[in-house]
Amino acid sequence: MAKRILLKDASLLNEEAQCIRHQDVLISDGKIKRIIDHGALKIEAEEIINCSGYYVSPGLPNLHVHAAMNIFKGIAEDVTSDTWFNEMIWPYESKMTNEDIYIGTLLGIAEMVNNGVTVFADHYFGEEQVLKAVKETGVRADLAPTLFGASEEFVDRLAKVSEFIKNHQYDSDRIAFHMGPHADYTCPEPTLFQMVEEAGKLQLPIHIHMAEESGQISRSKAQTGLTPFGVLDRAGAFDLKVLIAHGLWVEEEDLRYLKEDTWFAFCPKTYMKLASGEGGFFDLHGYLNYGFGTDGAASSNTLNPMEQARLLGLLGKFLGSDAASFSGESLWRHLMAGHKAFSFGSGLIREGAPADLVIWDLFEPDTFPFYHPISSILYSSNSTNVKYTMVGGEFLKYNGVLKMDIQNLMKEGARLQSQLLKRGKGKAEIYF
Ligand SMILES: [Zn+2]
Repeated sequence: MAKRILLKDASLLNEEAQCIRHQDVLISDGKIKRIIDHGALKIEAEEIINCSGYYVSPGLPNLHVHAAMNIFKGIAEDVTSDTWFNEMIWPYESKMTNEDIYIGTLLGIAEMVNNGVTVFADHYFGEEQVLKAVKETGVRADLAPTLFGASEEFVDRLAKVSEFIKNHQYDSDRIAFHMGPHADYTCPEPTLFQMVEEAGKLQLPIHIHMAEESGQISRSKAQTGLTPFGVLDRAGAFDLKVLIAHGLWVEEEDLRYLKEDTWFAFCPKTYMKLASGEGGFFDLHGYLNYGFGTDGAASSNTLNPMEQARLLGLLGKFLGSDAASFSGESLWRHLMAGHKAFSFGSGLIREGAPADLVIWDLFEPDTFPFYHPISSILYSSNSTNVKYTMVGGEFLKYNGVLKMDIQNLMKEGARLQSQLLKRGKGKAEIYF
């Protein structure tokens, strides 16, 4: 049984961006058991963390990532998205080994936990390796094994993925699944239909890349008469819960397709790096349910959703010539709202909620002094401010130190890195 942990005299930063000072928080059985005014009651616990001066918030959700791609961090810099996909990433991925996926995912998890991420939505192939890495680390994750509808092996692959999900759906309360069509532009309509149908049968939500660049919209309209959102609607996807990676080029006419449980994972660092254009998002964001993703490290170089919130704020102010827009508090609320894209009930500092928390220490050179803890975290913090990361009442980062054997992991990563460079690129089966 997980031990009882008392976070003593903490300042709580909740999902609504409110700060409640001097609270004692009891963690038991993986959940937040009690929250009371500091010292109001004597509480017994096996471990007491003195949180005086610290801020405790829900853990950070990362709504879209390819954790295994940490093995490719920095491999394809300063290239167009066309070159990035067709000449770099997909050719390298075609020669990827199981070990690359497993170690890459562990490296991705280490980076995320170090930055306070407690839950992430992954989209990748090699799902056995991803699942193994997730289980070993104790992080919470929602996996979408990637499916390419245009692939020759699609039918077999869909059967294999369905079987895999059925076999592991109830492994742990820290693991869930999405059906993961790669994108509307890599999945011809009949295959998209099949995946949506299968998702319906398995009662799974959908996680799909969409509307990253303007060219995808015009091609979709020319080929199908509809925007990518329209195509997804025609496939029946919006009857299910949907997580859209990107959606930067959403159009006003697309709003009619979106439902209460349609979520956008917005990843501005990738859009800036790959020069994806301004898109309709900045005009329409007020109508969308969105949180933040990081995308893979090969395009965004970091897996910190807080940084993505920061960049959206800066970009939004800059593009709209309005410094008062995208306030720190609103960005924080969107960041935390991302938890609702999952099914874990996380993201709340409330009795009964999963104990997925970050303890922030702002008494560090980068953040001191601070006047408003949320703006300090949003605009000044880095991973050194994440003192503790807790998932389900267990510490994955403790007093500034990751629980994983990071030195050994980096040694393994370096070995695989030199092997993958020696192996070189293969032939990509899919084209962007
Ligand atoms: Zn992606």
